[in-house]
Amino acid sequence: MSKYVVIGSGIVGLYTVYNLIERNVNGEEITVIAEYLPGDESIDYTSPYAGGNFSCITDDHPDTLKFDKHTYTRLQSIQRRLGGPQHGLDKIQSTEYFDTKPSDAKINSLKSYIENYTELPKLEMPHGCQYGIRYTSWSFNCPKFLLNMKKYLEGKGVTFVQKKLSHISQAFAFGTKIVFNCTGNGSKYLGGVTDNKIYPTRGQVVVIKAPHIKENVMRWGDNYATYIIKRPYSHDQLILGGFLQKDDWRSATSHDETLDILKRTTQLLPLILSRNTYGSSIEDLEILRVAAGLRPSRHGGPRIEREPIDHTKCVIHNYGASGYGYQAGLGMAYRAVSLALDVKPKL
Ligand SMILES: Cc1cc2nc3c(=O)[nH]c(=O)nc-3n(C[C@H](O)[C@H](O)[C@H](O)COP(=O)(O)OP(=O)(O)OC[C@H]3O[C@@H](n4cnc5c(N)ncnc54)[C@H](O)[C@@H]3O)c2cc1C
Repeated sequence: MSKYVVIGSGIVGLYTVYNLIERNVNGEEITVIAEYLPGDESIDYTSPYAGGNFSCITDDHPDTLKFDKHTYTRLQSIQRRLGGPQHGLDKIQSTEYFDTKPSDAKINSLKSYIENYTELPKLEMPHGCQYGIRYTSWSFNCPKFLLNMKKYLEGKGVTFVQKKLSHISQAFAFGTKIVFNCTGNGSKYLGGVTDNKIYPTRGQVVVIKAPHIKENVMRWGDNYATYIIKRPYSHDQLILGGFLQKDDWRSATSHDETLDILKRTTQLLPLILSRNTYGSSIEDLEILRVAAGLRPSRHGGPRIEREPIDHTKCVIHNYGASGYGYQAGLGMAYRAVSLALDVKPKL
């Protein structure tokens, strides 16, 4: 019998299990049930497709700012527990440019905890930018990180079961008391949940080989996002993106979008081409992979909520992490687990 069942083995589900264990729940009391597990790939499993790093992609809602801070300041401890940066999480320098200056609330929050936060002089910014920063960020090797999180949690006694549920009530089999619903986009279709506020924000990334690039660079516009993310311990993969296409369910990739990404990213960081081993035009880049992923977005923001089923059982919903599951998900997990343990959350 498992006292706790977590549905979903994406980053949000794994952070939730991690937080349960951090708060002294015995791993043997936890079962994860998921249609897709770390190592699998499907358009219905977003986490392996993330860039993924800590950036300014998040909004400035007070909850999101707290979730970001909680996560950023605890990633060092996760890195240590997994056994070091080679397990898929490392610090890296990031430079971010903004066409419109972020709110004071966002800037003041970031300044309060980000390592080496430096505001850039106008001269160092591309034309048309109002604000720029350089700081120490975190980059994830997402597929590797997911696998290593699973391994770590299994080492703590957690059981993983591969299974698709059609109704949330199926998770209460065998005497379970608390079910965490961490199904991302799946919450739109899972019986007993069917949340119509869920919509995907599609992204496409182009992965190239670029040993000469050692940092992350991003530019945020009002209706576009261009980003370059160095994937740690990946044999020099560089993730180029991207798109934030609301309510777009396409799993196919588009060649036009690939060319657009290559054009924007090489304009933003000309070093990608000028130091490329095989030549300095876009055609000379070594493309390893093109992929599309669906960020699990939700009108009104993430749902972190306790839903009583009867006087002994409840569901804790924890989904809707949109484009920030890696960088804010540990804070979301902390709040979700507080609801389960009936502790007033500090977040
Ligand atoms: C191109 C791109 C770039 C991104 N870059 C970043 C970044 O740089 N930083 C960042 O923080 N985030 C980034 N993200 C966002 C991040 O990937 C998501 O926020 C995160 O992956 C969401 O995780 P999740 O666990 O909620 O969902 P998922 O990873 O989709 O996991 C859902 C889980 O639920 C399971 N499931 C669903 N329905 C059922 C069912 N009925 N029965 C059983 N199991 C079910 C699935 O099998 C899966 O295990 C990016 C996303 C994309 C697409």
